[in-house]
Amino acid sequence: MKPAQRPEVTAYVALGANLGDAAQTLRDALHRLDHTPGLRLIHASSLYRTAPIDSSGPDYLNAVAEVSTTLTAPALLAALQAIELAHGRERPYRNAPRTLDLDLLLYGDARIESPALTVPHPRMGERAFVLVPLAEIAPNTVSPDALLSVQGQSINRI
Ligand code: ADP
Ligand code: MG
Repeated sequence: MKPAQRPEVTAYVALGANLGDAAQTLRDALHRLDHTPGLRLIHASSLYRTAPIDSSGPDYLNAVAEVSTTLTAPALLAALQAIELAHGRERPYRNAPRTLDLDLLLYGDARIESPALTVPHPRMGERAFVLVPLAEIAPNTVSPDALLSVQGQSINRI
């Protein structure tokens, strides 16, 4: 008998890059997401240009992807970290400039608090570079108040 297939869960992933050809990096990461076993890319937001917050280096490009997945949340995080690694990400220090950062924002309506994974992502509500692209593809997941609270942050759709 075949093992029971896990149900598909809708999850949202934040993508950010600020070194090298950031636009190409984000497009490649979206492609890799869609080609990871157990993952399907459903929607990708526009790309947005944002100034670094608590970080340094050139402006960031950011986007958010909606995926449908049969992976568990920890397995999805591991898949995201494998894609980061494929882009040569190093973590010399916290918030260092990075070629590619992939964060798991939402995994269905799950609430997870483990040492390696917190979902919903604990800082997503403070970041225009997450909320604006997320609201573009999934308006029901972002409250108008949350968008208002980040409207002072510079973000431009490209
Ligand atoms: P940040 O994204 O906060 O700038 P990192 O990408 O270096 O920093 O992440 C640091 C750690 O955060 C990772 O090793 C990962 O285990 C943990 N982490 C906790 N929750 C999440 C989440 N929802 N998405 C991605 N990483 C997470
Ligand atoms: Mg991260």
